[in-house]
This record gives sequence, structure tokens and C-alpha cells, in this order.
Amino acid sequence: MYPDRVVSGMRPTGPMHLGHYHGALRNWIGMQSELPCLFFVADWHALTTHYDDPSLIERSTWDMLVDWLAAGVDPSQATLFIQSRVPEHAELHLLLSMATPLGWLERVPTYKDQIDNLAHRDLATYGFLGYPLLQAADVLIYRASDVPVGEDQVPHIEMMREIARRFNHLYGKEKGFEEKAQDAVKKLGSKRAKLYNELRTAYQQDGKDEALEQAKAMLDSAQSLSMIDRERLFGYLEGSRKLILVEPQARLTAAPRLPGLDGRKMSKSYGNAIALREGKDVVTKKVRTMPTDPARVRRSDAGEPERCPVWQFHQVYSDAPTQQWVQQGCRSAGIGCLECKQPVIDAIIRAQEPMHERAQPYLDDPTLVRAIVADGNDVARKLAQETMRDVREAMGLAYT
Ligand code: SF4
Repeated sequence: MYPDRVVSGMRPTGPMHLGHYHGALRNWIGMQSELPCLFFVADWHALTTHYDDPSLIERSTWDMLVDWLAAGVDPSQATLFIQSRVPEHAELHLLLSMATPLGWLERVPTYKDQIDNLAHRDLATYGFLGYPLLQAADVLIYRASDVPVGEDQVPHIEMMREIARRFNHLYGKEKGFEEKAQDAVKKLGSKRAKLYNELRTAYQQDGKDEALEQAKAMLDSAQSLSMIDRERLFGYLEGSRKLILVEPQARLTAAPRLPGLDGRKMSKSYGNAIALREGKDVVTKKVRTMPTDPARVRRSDAGEPERCPVWQFHQVYSDAPTQQWVQQGCRSAGIGCLECKQPVIDAIIRAQEPMHERAQPYLDDPTLVRAIVADGNDVARKLAQETMRDVREAMGLAYT
């Protein structure tokens, strides 16, 4: 009914590093040629944890956008925008908050984890508890079909789906829906109408999922239907409700895990990160001083790659022969750690070269990034406004 679309955002809380690149940005770049993608700077989300120091947000926003472009996000393929420039996100967040049970937010697993991890910040705020709901609004407002996430974010997508379902259930009632839906069935033509009714019965009475899929495919190909009739018929298939918000799917992507220089999660706050556009000398220095297998005190001691963060870098950056050279050389003390680190240094620097090149025009002329984002804001806002028109109408707030 609605076109497939990907929505994803990142919080501007500091420079992007290689962990962000391998964990998320690479996926974005892979998807942008497959599906329409909307990528946004989640500046309001940054405020949920950094409300007491917002100075970082504006600068990080522009730096992060340059990082995205440097990494290969292509504004001719994807829409790049800033969340707060599309205030409809806030309106939908507010409206969804009216009907979202508090327990749904409290049981999101990352809520408790974050409270523990960020114990030094006061996160007992209304905004922080509500951030998964703001995330839901960010996605539902574009009727996104796919949201790229890591394993830990899957419960958030589940909650978004529940919120969309609940919304459609509560507000998808349309006066005279049944009659309007039956009129729309007639507009399919007698052969298709008969098939539609059969498939609807097969799904509703016998729970046949393939009947639902077949009916949806038929509606997709029915040229004669207006948009509104098509929406009604999609809703009529599954019940007697109009589908206003779309349930998104989690799109799990197998991203290689790149740890920080010390083997923990890469994070600026741990001081173990390599920035996406780090200078060559800094990359060299950071990798050369990385801790290695603690058992290799002397050059002559044999080591074990599995205990060494450098090996995890090799798994991301090195080809099979190099990996074999590391395994053998480490376990037999045939190579020294500095020797072992050199191919990693070379590979990171090689991978960063095109990023530095792509970033340069944007650094030379910052108005280029402003213009890309201004266009993206317009595109996103139009889509968001279409959804909000339907949402307001469904909730009795259209005042026409
Ligand atoms: S040789 Fe390589 S893998 Fe082995 S401990 Fe040294 S840096 Fe780590």
C-alpha cells in the first residue's frame, strides 16, 4: 500500500568513529541504492542524554553530516535531514504518548541498561523515558517499511509495531467504513472483486497468511483504485480498520564488530576510538600503542590472537593470507606485535583516503552541506505532513 522505505538516525554527540562506520554507516551505504532511504540527525535524541550541555549538538551535527558524506552516503540517492527541522515528529510523539501505556516504555531493555551505563548523568527525566516513543514517531511518521538495527534495538522495533497496531485499532475507524470498503471492492471489477472476497475470507476465517499476501499483491497491481480506496481495502482485509500507520520491520544486518583500541566497545568517552577522518599520524600512533595479548610480555613469548584486540582489527581489515600470517606468527612468536600491527595501520589509512577526499569539498565550502540538508528537510517534511494530515483526521483534530 505504501512504498517500501528505510528510516534511520544517529545522535550527534561527538565525532564519528570507525565503530560507527562498521556498525551502521556501511549498512546505510549498502541500502541507499536498494530502497528509498531517509537518514536523519537525531538532535532531539541527543538532548535526552545531553540536555545539560547542548553546545556540543550543533557542531556535532555538521561534523557528523560531513562524516556521512565522507563515508559514502550519497545525497543524490538518500534524503539527509535534521530531526528538529521536521517538527511533525514532535507532534506525532505527543499524540502517540496519549495512548502509550507507561509499562511499554519502562520494559524496553535498553532503558534500564542506559540508566546503569550513564549513572553519572541524571536520566530520571520524562524525555529519557519517552525516547523510544520519539523513535517510534521518527519511523512511523514516514510509514517506513524497514529500520536497520542491531540485535539490541529489536525490542524498540517491536514496540513501534505495537504502537502502530494500537493506533490503527483505536483511530482507524472511519464512519461508514464497511460500506465504503464494499463500494471499493466493486471498483475492482467483478473477477477481482470475487477473488478479493475469497482471499479475505480465507485469511479472516482460516488464518491463511498466503491469502493475505496474495490479496495484497493483487491490490498493489490494481491500477483502477484511488489511493484512499486502496488503503480501505488493505484495512478491510485484516479487519474493519483503515491502516493509518505502518508496522515497520527490523532489518538486522550482519555488521562486523570492531572493538575499541582496548578491546571494549569503541566509544569516544572511553578514549579508545579512531575517528572516521583521523589523520594518518594519529592512526599510526593509536594502533602502535594498542594493548595486545597480555601474555606476550617479551618478543619471544608466544601469543594468542583471540586474546588480542589487534586480531579483531585484522578480522575486519585483513585478507585471509594476512590473517593466517598473524595466527601463525603470533602463536609461534615468529612476528613481533609492531610488525603485526602494520598491515592494520596500512589498511585503515587506505580505507580513509577516499573519505578524506570526499570530505574536502564540504570542508572547503560548508554551504554545500547546508544546501543538501535544506533539500532533505523539505523532502522529509512533505512526507511527514502527509502522514500527519491522516493522523489528525483520524483523531478528530482536522477541524476542516
Ligand atoms: S602478534 Fe598480533 S595478534 Fe599476537 S599479540 Fe601481538 S598484536 Fe596481538
